[in-house]
Amino acid sequence: MFERYTEKARRVIFFARYEASQYGSPDIETEHLLLGLLREDHALSRRILGAGGTFKDLVFSESSIDVIRHKISERGMLGEKLPTSVDLPLSNESKRVLAYAAEEAESLGHRHIGTEHLLLGLLREKKGFAAQLLNEEGVVLKRSRGNIAEWQKKYGSAEESEGTESVAIHGQAWNLDYVRAQTKTLEKFAWSKREWKPLDVLVEFETGRIFFDTNPSQDPRFKLVPDGWTRDWCVICGWELNVYGGAEHFTVYTNGRQWLCAECCEQFFASKPESNS
Ligand SMILES: [Zn+2]
Repeated sequence: MFERYTEKARRVIFFARYEASQYGSPDIETEHLLLGLLREDHALSRRILGAGGTFKDLVFSESSIDVIRHKISERGMLGEKLPTSVDLPLSNESKRVLAYAAEEAESLGHRHIGTEHLLLGLLREKKGFAAQLLNEEGVVLKRSRGNIAEWQKKYGSAEESEGTESVAIHGQAWNLDYVRAQTKTLEKFAWSKREWKPLDVLVEFETGRIFFDTNPSQDPRFKLVPDGWTRDWCVICGWELNVYGGAEHFTVYTNGRQWLCAECCEQFFASKPESNS
């Protein structure tokens, strides 16, 4: 039943079983899954943060972990410690958590079930003690789900080495499937190389809103601001394009409307785009 689980997710189950036996519980309850997750996900969160992400909902501080541990102990479920070799069954709530985790993976289009899906599963089992504890620590389902989806869209699965291939852009790991999908939609354009330059824009006097089409520059509602638009972003990787950051930031490819950083364009487009420069 765990064949779709990533190595980390399997370890969560392993640790959950261990925790349950330590607490003398006859079943693996949701709080044991949570303890297993905290053990595993602790390092994972750091890695996520280390990669420059802002993934606050998934970051359990030392104190949150302690609080949760304390609350679980406090619940007074400590029975006699069971030998860890005993193959403890999952409680019904825990079984639902795993079923939810599988659903969450599915809806995110992932073949593998990882720790992030287990977390969502725990949050979905609202009556479970784990969900209660997480909610008390400010971790809620909707926001966590949004954060995970967003983060994965950008950087791929948290466990990029397992199941999902990744590719490096500007030294950061990106989900190869995402990059391929983007490349596919952008292939139909002809890309030419040039230096990125700030754009003239029209700014609406009353509202300050920006208008890129400078044609109606005689319109009294607008004022022309030469070089008013000072940065753009690569449509694949979001790399900032500007004139201050050196060649890496101003060497770009464009189809006349959109921008690609040189690294993305030169790396992902099979036929090298023609060069104007
Ligand atoms: Zn790029």
